[in-house]
Amino acid sequence: MFKPDSKIPEGPVTQKWTNHKGKINLVSPANKRLIDIIVVGTGLAGASASATLAELGYNVKAFCFQDSPRRAHSIAAQGGINAAKNYQGDGDSTYRLFYDTIKGGDYRSREANVHRLAEVSTNIIDQCVAQGVPFARDYGGLLDNRSFGGVLVSRTFYAKGQTGQQLLLGAYSAMNRQIGRGKIKMYNRHEMMDIVVVDGKARGIIARNLVDGKIERHGAHAVVIASGGYGNVFFLSTNAMGSNVSAGWKIHKKGAYFANPCFTQIHPTCIPVSGDHQSKLTLMSESLRNDGRIWVPKNIEDSKAIREGRLKPTEISEENRDYYLERRYPAFGNLVPRDVASRAAKERCDAGFGVNKTGEAVYLDFASSIIRYGKEQAHVKGLDENDSVLVKKLGQEVVRAKYGNLFQMYEKIVDQNPYETPMMIYPAVHYTMGGVWVDYNLMTSIPGCYAIGEANFSDHGANRLGASALMQGLADGYFVLPYTIGDYLSNDIRTGAIDTKLPEFEKAEASVKAQLDAFISNNGSQSVDYYHRKLGKIMWDKCGMSRNEKGLKDAIKEIKELREDFYKNVNVPGRTDEFNEQLAKAGRVADFLELGELFAKDALARTESCGGHFREESQTPEGEALRDDENFTFVSAWEYKGAPSKAKLHKENLKYEEIEVKTRSYK
Ligand SMILES: Cc1cc2nc3c(=O)[nH]c(=O)nc-3n(C[C@H](O)[C@H](O)[C@H](O)COP(=O)(O)OP(=O)(O)OC[C@H]3O[C@@H](n4cnc5c(N)ncnc54)[C@H](O)[C@@H]3O)c2cc1C
Repeated sequence: MFKPDSKIPEGPVTQKWTNHKGKINLVSPANKRLIDIIVVGTGLAGASASATLAELGYNVKAFCFQDSPRRAHSIAAQGGINAAKNYQGDGDSTYRLFYDTIKGGDYRSREANVHRLAEVSTNIIDQCVAQGVPFARDYGGLLDNRSFGGVLVSRTFYAKGQTGQQLLLGAYSAMNRQIGRGKIKMYNRHEMMDIVVVDGKARGIIARNLVDGKIERHGAHAVVIASGGYGNVFFLSTNAMGSNVSAGWKIHKKGAYFANPCFTQIHPTCIPVSGDHQSKLTLMSESLRNDGRIWVPKNIEDSKAIREGRLKPTEISEENRDYYLERRYPAFGNLVPRDVASRAAKERCDAGFGVNKTGEAVYLDFASSIIRYGKEQAHVKGLDENDSVLVKKLGQEVVRAKYGNLFQMYEKIVDQNPYETPMMIYPAVHYTMGGVWVDYNLMTSIPGCYAIGEANFSDHGANRLGASALMQGLADGYFVLPYTIGDYLSNDIRTGAIDTKLPEFEKAEASVKAQLDAFISNNGSQSVDYYHRKLGKIMWDKCGMSRNEKGLKDAIKEIKELREDFYKNVNVPGRTDEFNEQLAKAGRVADFLELGELFAKDALARTESCGGHFREESQTPEGEALRDDENFTFVSAWEYKGAPSKAKLHKENLKYEEIEVKTRSYK
């Protein structure tokens, strides 16, 4: 039997959350004042949780490594946030959002969690509107929606291409109210270095003040990890440069299971890699697929001519273009889920149809939308619909209003005007569905330690649908954790303040200091980035968009060797007692070097293909992912046993009681 218990409540899936909330233990308002909670991370998940827990009356200590919660990676989120409001009257419902998410995740997520997510999705929008988040509105003043991949309805709420930023400003304002009241103590520029476990329970953390290098002990009755995803294990990704796995990895090493580490999302619409100098990739939001059509030339000679600069995309006629997503997936077209769109782009580029110098790019073209919108506007304004110059101008204005900041960003990076020539895009690492294993209450396998937002594995199975990460992070922080944490803390009302002089704190602090000292005194010859880049290349080549047994075995061996070399030869300049970005990075890369191995091990063990995990050995004759439901309908939960190579696999079997498991088709 899988242990620890996933704690999925009994009863029909539609009633589980309501019944559970009604029955779990609560902490009275007077007793909440006696309880301290540490929240590591102040992105959307951590900020919403901190604000809500403090509003409830708990004493919160919140940590982030940036100089302000406002700089969390969440601000990068562009396209939007899903909710089953059915404002468009297009057939949406809680059930449909639940169904789309389970199917989108290729039947590898927990039904109970996903149904709860769909249920609370609508509350999130109300909460954020009440905070003043400026969601886009239609002409009549009602909230507007657009579509994201893998769905047939419009349920995505958005604020231009800056949804994450606006939502974070809302959550941050809510946090600030509590910082002002003294209920949240904010520790900016602090990095959690380890968790402290006392008598089997999470009782605090060791943190490093990144400005002066001081090591600090912080006690609490519960610790919440909201530290984001680990896509940067690939070095190049769309994540913020600082995003890392360390908080999640440290708790893994102290007893928290790590689930489905190989489930990674490769996003189809990113600006292609242009050379070896890059350290960051840029996302072009999925919202662009509402209006942009993806294509490559139909004739391989045209692709070649484009690559050699002899032909322009605008010179290729309609009949000589291959809108391959519309051709292969007529029902969902350009709005198939990300894993499907990414693999289709790779297939075309591998076949020689890629359109930039490296051969790794496809087009995202707005020309037909510009004309469609332009004609509509001309009609509305009583102008000449056959005046092509006017129509183009009017159409561009509509597209600018919808996606202006994304187009501007593209032009600044690529130096091409996407209103006039199609954008070039290619898949890039974007999101990690895997993460710290949590039960239904969002508690990890360390009692008293919780994980929320992208840091946990909980809701997206093998592939996350667009605009569902913000929904999950805010669901966890505003509406799930604040209920479930009380159930655990109700036993702690008489515990009193946690003593940070306990030997467990001393031991954890000493081991943190020893690792920092070892880095500084190593005097090696290679930079931290040298190792990070090398790790990223192994990950991309062997654990990236498609994986096979040989590549994964090679990756495991190469990562192990790279890790050994890292500890022998890494050079970390400066001192431990000062601001030292390289030192902070060294610790993060050390953890990526361990996670990378577990990632490959997980991918090797899962011999089926599902969602974003594509094993070349398991595909249909058409090249689609081929699941093996009989043998792999489970969550892989890895237990640390001294090294990634020794990690032990526990299988949490998934049951589908409400939704019929089918072959995933978007045709
Ligand atoms: C370019 C881009 C666009 C996206 N657009 C969308 C979108 O439109 N819709 C959508 O739903 N999703 C989108 N996503 C995904 C979404 O943005 C993320 O999944 C989500 O914001 C993660 O939120 P989080 O709160 O879990 O973590 P983050 O926002 O990553 O926050 C992590 C926090 O943890 C802190 N932290 C980490 N480690 C430590 C440590 N050791 N010590 C102290 N603090 C630590 C950081 O300081 C930070 O405060 C996008 C992602 C990218 C990369």
